[in-house]
Amino acid sequence: MNAPLIHQPPCGGIDLRQEQGQRAVFCGLTGIVWLHRKIQDAFFLVVGSRTCAHLIQSAAGVMIFAEPRFATAIIDERDLAGLADANEELDRIVTRLIERRPDIKLLFLVGSCPSEVIKLDLSRAAQRLSGRLAPVRVLNYSGSGIETTFTQGEDACLAALVPDLPRETEAAAPSLLVVGALADVVEDQFLRLFTAMGIADVRFLPARRAGAMPAVGRGTRYLLAQPFLTDTARALDERGARRLPAPFPLGAEGTTGWLRAAAEAFGISEAVFEKATAAGRARAGTALAPHREKLGGKRVFFFPDSQLEVPLARFLARELGAELVEVGTPYLHRGHLAAEIEWLPPGTRVTEGQSLDDQMDRCRAARPDLTICGLGLANPLEAEGLSTKWSIELLFTPVQGYEQAGDLAELFVRPLRRRALLEV
Ligand code: SF4
Repeated sequence: MNAPLIHQPPCGGIDLRQEQGQRAVFCGLTGIVWLHRKIQDAFFLVVGSRTCAHLIQSAAGVMIFAEPRFATAIIDERDLAGLADANEELDRIVTRLIERRPDIKLLFLVGSCPSEVIKLDLSRAAQRLSGRLAPVRVLNYSGSGIETTFTQGEDACLAALVPDLPRETEAAAPSLLVVGALADVVEDQFLRLFTAMGIADVRFLPARRAGAMPAVGRGTRYLLAQPFLTDTARALDERGARRLPAPFPLGAEGTTGWLRAAAEAFGISEAVFEKATAAGRARAGTALAPHREKLGGKRVFFFPDSQLEVPLARFLARELGAELVEVGTPYLHRGHLAAEIEWLPPGTRVTEGQSLDDQMDRCRAARPDLTICGLGLANPLEAEGLSTKWSIELLFTPVQGYEQAGDLAELFVRPLRRRALLEV
């Protein structure tokens, strides 16, 4: 029997439905693969099983030759049966790690399904170890796969950082905080644009080094760079920071809307904003033009996976002329995505949640030109003659900002080109 699609109250002009059922997503441990590159003196210790170790080793396979900044403390049968004191074992492993690796300044204990099953209290462990190993900071968050999506790992990690951030003084002038892990090159480009607009005090969360995390207080205005940072935003709000409502910086239009939100909050004139962004907008327009020919009119189907689906769908529809068959998303944060929902073509079918079999049936029936989905679904769909794009690639690749707009479009063109070659 098919799971019912539940129509939701009107939300912008979209056709929003919810469904529940079997899901196919990676867990939050996956975030370690891009986070460990971002915070350069942090270490991620997963407290989990051999399955967890295999997941991050294979997801981050290319890093195996580098000095690793992640590892798994394996919980084995003895721990699961309560025969060993897992806390003692963990303290021993962490102490040895810090002795061997003086370059580690920030250690994350990352919880997993097995650590949750044995109810290992990692927040107490983090407090205990922080006291013992100072000045090394030890924090914890959960990357467990139960009822989560893989991008929630980053949200949980950044939310764990917030209580530890320095407090901005009440008298401090307003500062701009960009929230969400971005490639360094993208961060530098944004910094140049903000500077050109005259916004001098711009900070990033996470910072590249543990000792350089941004101060946050009532004067902080923040822009989310990623749409999946619900818990982080809540923690920042509790600190007194204020979110600037904006679309996300994907594509030329999204980037302009995102930068404009900061410009308006900091009283930057339209003339200065235009001058600062004109060259970037023009370059993005030129880079997108050839891709518009290839993606225009193509029918696109999104499976729910990364939580980037709504901004990506908006980009594909508005800037590249694609037709949206269905936009699946694991969660739809109505507040954070308000500007994006507004920009979706009227009547766009958005499905929140997942019932895998039903969605596969709808996808097969629609036979879209391009399907954006998780790794596990891509192969079967390819075998059925459908072109697919792995949504996880959009997290590993720099895609935000004007300079990357063409690269982002290219990521969607590539599977179409490959399929065309195969058919020839
Ligand atoms: Fe699997 Fe859970 Fe470990 Fe993720 S955290 S790899 S879902 S056991």
